[in-house]
Amino acid sequence: MRKPFIAGNWKMNKTVAEATELAAGLRDALAGVTVADIAVCPTATALSAVSNTLAGTNIGVGAQNMYWEESGAYTGEISPLMVKELAQYVILGHSERRQYFGETNETVNKKIKTALAYGLKPIVCIGESLEQNEAGKTVSFVGGQIKGAFAGISADDAEKTTLAYEPIWAIGTGRTASPEDADKTIRAAIRDVLKELYDEATAETIRVQYGGSVKPNNMAAFIVMPEIDGALVGGASLKVDSFTGIVTAAVEALKS
Ligand code: PEP
Repeated sequence: MRKPFIAGNWKMNKTVAEATELAAGLRDALAGVTVADIAVCPTATALSAVSNTLAGTNIGVGAQNMYWEESGAYTGEISPLMVKELAQYVILGHSERRQYFGETNETVNKKIKTALAYGLKPIVCIGESLEQNEAGKTVSFVGGQIKGAFAGISADDAEKTTLAYEPIWAIGTGRTASPEDADKTIRAAIRDVLKELYDEATAETIRVQYGGSVKPNNMAAFIVMPEIDGALVGGASLKVDSFTGIVTAAVEALKS
């Protein structure tokens, strides 16, 4: 049984004061939720404050990116050692980083290896563009991203990662993949490829979130799908009510 995992990606939003307020609101609203893992991923500037606010609670903290060197002349970057002081998770390879900041399967792979070496739990994002989707290339493209991400990574380490399947055309657009299509893609492009790379047990152990316009009113339909183990949430993670609504919808759907 894979434990559901719902994470909020706050992207480039929230000052330190706003992030602290949001974290405190979530801490109170989500206290006592144990059937799902929960995490929030603030900007680097707010990691320290959010980590203090959530210390000792059921809500984990993640960074949104990280470099693969421990220290040195890499202006503007943050290192695994720095993330490790403040967070347990790190989002790697988000499509916005691939699109705007030149991340590739190779750099994502280096970052995953580094995160694992430092005891961080990577949330690795993969997903196809609208063009690839319409051309019927989703499975080959996402499968290629999986092979690239896990190159040279052992099965034991692979199991410590979470994957977030995020069709790019569904991110921030209000349009989602249908739960059935997302489920089929996760089976064909992710679990079958993981089985090929490792073995069935590894493929069945790794958690796979769906991401792309998840809201309180559509979470239940995703979480009940057999291959979907939670969500990576952008826009709707920026307010206490909507993120709490998503977690509550998942918890309720799993009960029935
Ligand atoms: C994301 O950026 O990871 C995301 C899924 O965004 P949104 O929920 O806003 O579509």
